[in-house]
Amino acid sequence: MSERIHLIEAGGRGGVFQHSIAVASALSNAGCKVILHTARDFEIYVPGINFCGCFRWGRVSGNRVVRQALTAARLVSKTLPHLARDIKPGEIVYVQGSFGLTPEVVRALRFARSTIVCSPHNTFARVGAPGASRALRTALTASDRVLVFSASDRERLEHCGVPVGLVPLVQWVPPVPDHLTEKWRAELAAKERPLALLPGQVRFDKNPDLFVRAMVLLHGWTGAVVGEDKGAAESVDRLIAETGARIETRYGYLDMENFAALVRAADVVVAPYEVASQSGVLSVAHILGVPTAATPAGGLVEQATVVANSFEPSALAEAIKVAHGRGKGERLETEVAARYLTEFAAATEISARR
Ligand SMILES: [Zn+2]
Repeated sequence: MSERIHLIEAGGRGGVFQHSIAVASALSNAGCKVILHTARDFEIYVPGINFCGCFRWGRVSGNRVVRQALTAARLVSKTLPHLARDIKPGEIVYVQGSFGLTPEVVRALRFARSTIVCSPHNTFARVGAPGASRALRTALTASDRVLVFSASDRERLEHCGVPVGLVPLVQWVPPVPDHLTEKWRAELAAKERPLALLPGQVRFDKNPDLFVRAMVLLHGWTGAVVGEDKGAAESVDRLIAETGARIETRYGYLDMENFAALVRAADVVVAPYEVASQSGVLSVAHILGVPTAATPAGGLVEQATVVANSFEPSALAEAIKVAHGRGKGERLETEVAARYLTEFAAATEISARR
């Protein structure tokens, strides 16, 4: 394995950036030297990660064409030569291929003879589609390994002849002070009562009614619905009153720190959703070591600790009980680092044979 691991995430903000920070932080805590090449105006600073602000975006100009031209010109004249110069042959580079100039970046890395691991993120849906972007396909097939977050994506890309590895989708979760977790716990449930939590925006498509009906069946438990009301709060309150379910509600927006503390305070995090691809909430719970119970909807099946065998309240209640039996673990950073390092080692082997 090479000395340094480079991560490339050009945007410096949003979900893909938070994913990059989570991976960088896990690797750095596992003793790796990590450099994150990102936008100059990146949004979250984390000690221990070496940030290199080598991507510059023309965010200022009001004209889209001007912005794109400036960005592309800077990338070609400054960023690509910097990457080709700074990254040594054989060093591992994990590229978040979620922006338009990914093929150019991969070409520069190829030129630098580095080991290229690429995650196409939200653009991979297009790869398997008819008329898929040739440029992106070239970038993926030029990588030594492509990382995806679900079995269905792995299958789709394997059909295209791309070497694929499956890794857990992780997201940056800030360090949570114990007193904040304790505050949430004390506010929502008595110590001896297990707490099942439905966190995040309160919306109809998240199926909060099913959660309420499942809680009615769980004697000795306390439920909590905590998050910003996006239209479903009144109906949740009405159903709680009707059924007599033991559920606390707090409606309002939570910042990242409070959200993480809230999740950590729960014994089981519940995702009763009707439809879902991937759940950011389950990803946060996973990182914090809190077991999860979910309905058999889409990608939740792969993400949750325990999946209910139907959309019936009794099935969800059973899943919550079984998940509670799994117990709470530690933050899963060590496991995350190990999984990514295994994939990087596989990529190194492939690139050595090249
Ligand atoms: Zn850089």
